[in-house]
Amino acid sequence: MADVPAECNIKVLCRFRPLNQSEIIRGDLFLPKFQGDDTVVVGGKSYAFDRVFPTNTTQEQVYNTCAKQIVKDVLGGYNGTIFAYGQTSSGKTHTMEGKLHDPHQMGIIPRIAEDIFNHIFAMDENLEFHIKVLTKTNLSVHEDKNRVPFVKGCTERFVSSPDEVMDVIDEGKANRHVAVTNMNEHSSRSHSIFLINIKQEHVETEQKLSGKLYLVDLAGSEKVSKTGAAGAVLDEAKNINKSLSALGNVISALAEGTKSHVPYRDSKMTRILQDSLGGNCRTTMFICCSPSNYNEAETKSTLMFGQRAK
Ligand code: ADP
Ligand code: MG
Repeated sequence: MADVPAECNIKVLCRFRPLNQSEIIRGDLFLPKFQGDDTVVVGGKSYAFDRVFPTNTTQEQVYNTCAKQIVKDVLGGYNGTIFAYGQTSSGKTHTMEGKLHDPHQMGIIPRIAEDIFNHIFAMDENLEFHIKVLTKTNLSVHEDKNRVPFVKGCTERFVSSPDEVMDVIDEGKANRHVAVTNMNEHSSRSHSIFLINIKQEHVETEQKLSGKLYLVDLAGSEKVSKTGAAGAVLDEAKNINKSLSALGNVISALAEGTKSHVPYRDSKMTRILQDSLGGNCRTTMFICCSPSNYNEAETKSTLMFGQRAK
């Protein structure tokens, strides 16, 4: 059983995307009312987070407000995790990846890649860095002889520039399995995990420091019924919903900080992330929402999920 840390560092941020073209044409209403920089009202109910980003927030503003510091911390030897949670088409991938090669539209992951190398070039010349990135969709977790979980079948590589990081992301995308359901947009029903592992060693003192950062674009959180899925796709959807609620339970136990048991072992994902959640780790959860009245029920349940982590 894992000990609950005395202090944990969990931030929950909420981001609303703008109405899209087809929603505007359909005449959908824009639901959220933003109050200050940390509260949003939807359907008469008020939801507070560490920060709420209204629809006109730029990728750069999002990055500067919540991911920049994590990069410094990981270079300082901390572990961390950044998640994006929300229904399909709510802006998770836009937030985590964005347009990879577009300086304005790129999301958190490519900005982190650039930032890490900028920091390293400015650091002590006597430090030697080993940076490894790993990307994985459709988790399959195995345990080694010492019961340490590891992920099978992923792309893993040492990198020496931001471009090499992008190459790994591009390859990961090409491998992504997409189960097409009858949602308006295609829904990729799988979690996608990107890991950046940084090891540093001082060439003279041989002092070592390591930190890792998980960046997780979670599978769409929509209810199974809405997708009209059946058979294998339905089973997959149920598994996804189970793993998302297991994640919610872990985060809420960590946020509460009083429970003696954090149920890390209830899902593959939380087992993998265990040493990068809670404790001294930096954990940030993006709650991604659609502004359309058409999605009101899903949006409310997404906001409630985020509230549990507070
Ligand atoms: P998800 O990954 O949650 O399924 P996406 O990130 O793919 O959703 O977003 C769906 C669509 O909405 C994409 O075309 C994306 O570019 C657009 N989008 C999402 N968030 C924003 C935003 N904050 N501003 C502008 N467009 C956005
Ligand atoms: Mg996506």
